[in-house]
Amino acid sequence: MTTLLQLNQVSKQYGKETKALSDVSFSVNEGEFVSIIGPSGAGKSTLLRCINRMVDATSGEIIFDDTNLHSLGKKELRKARRKIGMIFQHYNLVNRLSVIENVLHGRLGYKSAIAGILGMYTEEEKGEAIKILQVLGLQDQMYKRCDQLSGGQKQRVGIARALIQNPKLLLCDEPIASLDPNASKIIMDHLRNISTTMGITVLVNLHQVDVALKYSDRIIGVSKGQVVYNGLAQELSTEKIHEIYGSEAGELIMDVGGRNAG
Ligand code: ADP
Repeated sequence: MTTLLQLNQVSKQYGKETKALSDVSFSVNEGEFVSIIGPSGAGKSTLLRCINRMVDATSGEIIFDDTNLHSLGKKELRKARRKIGMIFQHYNLVNRLSVIENVLHGRLGYKSAIAGILGMYTEEEKGEAIKILQVLGLQDQMYKRCDQLSGGQKQRVGIARALIQNPKLLLCDEPIASLDPNASKIIMDHLRNISTTMGITVLVNLHQVDVALKYSDRIIGVSKGQVVYNGLAQELSTEKIHEIYGSEAGELIMDVGGRNAG
């Protein structure tokens, strides 16, 4: 197994008061599907954002694809980021643009600023966008403006935009937190399928334990900025869920449907 991502003692302090992450260390193998679970404020979003350096860690090492991201200058970072796709809870689409234009934005990391501004994409890039939209079941929505789509469709556009980067790693920050159960299932099925059939590594922040258990190879439990569980989904005990979620645990364990009962 090849390690794609390795975090060594990553810490993040916001201002003087808030220590969002404390000495977080873990690794993710190529092709793995890993969920990060934990209550609100645990540091999940900060953790994902430190990996692609949308947020700069205060200390520690982040090694992705044999490169220490923390030490890269602007130009090299831009290049490294091509290989890391990001999916957001609120999609981060340009609503007044069409679906296919939003997908093509995923190619901007490969272009000069001017080519990007002029929307200069090759026929090959357009063909690739169409192919990805077909895989995600959006072939009939391609020329619609994004503000005419449902939440679940918007999130599929977000996934398509990440895939056209040709990433090795997908970081998904609460991708289903704004979706109903049906749309959530469609999105999680696509993410799992991307991992299994395309060999892309998926690291996803989730609030819902039941979803994490269903889809993940491995689960990383975060509480108060620290990793308190790192292991197989099937080995996550009720006690651990309590430790990760504290007072929120009761409600969540009911959602899991007594899977860990006894
Ligand atoms: P989660 O994603 O698990 O809800 P976050 O990473 O969003 O957790 O937040 C972790 C902690 O860091 C929280 O205490 C939060 O208030 C704080 N925090 C997050 N982003 C910022 C920021 N930009 N500035 C200051 N504090 C922040």
